[in-house]
Amino acid sequence: MTRILKGKPVIDSLNTHLKSESEGLRSRGLVPVLAIVRVGENADDVTYERSAEKCCAAAGVEVKKYLFAADVREEEILSAVRAISVDKNIHGALILRPLPPHIDDRALCRALAPEKDVDGITEYSMAGVYSDKRVGFSPCTAEACIDMLKHYNIEIAGRRAVVVGRSFVVGKPAAMMLLRENATVTICHTKTKELAALCREAEILVVATGHAKLITEGFFSPRQTIIDVGINVDEEGKLCGDVDREKAEGIVSAIAPVPGGIGRVTTAVLAKHVIEACKRSALKET
Ligand code: NDP
Repeated sequence: MTRILKGKPVIDSLNTHLKSESEGLRSRGLVPVLAIVRVGENADDVTYERSAEKCCAAAGVEVKKYLFAADVREEEILSAVRAISVDKNIHGALILRPLPPHIDDRALCRALAPEKDVDGITEYSMAGVYSDKRVGFSPCTAEACIDMLKHYNIEIAGRRAVVVGRSFVVGKPAAMMLLRENATVTICHTKTKELAALCREAEILVVATGHAKLITEGFFSPRQTIIDVGINVDEEGKLCGDVDREKAEGIVSAIAPVPGGIGRVTTAVLAKHVIEACKRSALKET
């Protein structure tokens, strides 16, 4: 029987720990605060923002929002990010991306103080993911994949992992983090040949392509644990992942489904990072 790896128990367990950490900080007069920067009214951004607010509230993290019209001038948003970077009462910032094309994404990332980059978008955080330096914070979704595997006691070390997708937001950092946990990792993308055969060999399969039900019959095998990261809408208008769950169930060992899997674990990881950033800033000041 296929085990369903639900996100909620992972979130509940994270939140219990985070709540006690944030209470500890509050008792010392420290309130962890996340700044959310959103440009425009993109529905996905608004949904993600709501999820982040909910998770932060559960973890005892305050949220301060910086909302801009879609046609905001680049200089205006840059100066807001610079102000966040020097504000001692803000510990982390989430910049909802992609940004409108008239805003230079890299310039905005550079304007963010690395220690407040709780979603792994600055070069400093990337250096932490792609080297052994352990600095900054990893992208939240990639870390959520690892947290979920660990929560369900799924062994990573020594196992064959395949990551489908190589974006800097999910695929590449997830692959690097699996490697750090001593998995043997293969990264697949649109030019990969014999994708189904490679996926079948995976004991851990992380899929982040943005293509509904791309991973289907012929891709599955009994020893697999699948983490489906994709968020798509199917032909009936229902939310679905990159993995054809109906076809996977009954064959694979375990699957984190969409919806109800990795999605909100991502925002719980975000709250975790803000609390850690708050602790680090307090340490720096003592
Ligand atoms: P990108 O579009 O940036 O990257 C998609 C990756 O998938 C690319 O590397 C691409 O390869 C690869 N890919 C696309 N089609 C195929 C294919 N047919 N075969 C093999 N590889 C393929 O997407 P993101 O990484 O940003 O997001 C991926 C998915 O994850 C989306 O559905 C997104 O909504 C979801 N997501 C979910 C989050 C959550 O919290 N749960 C957070 C972030 C994203 P190539 O490089 O060759 O183009």
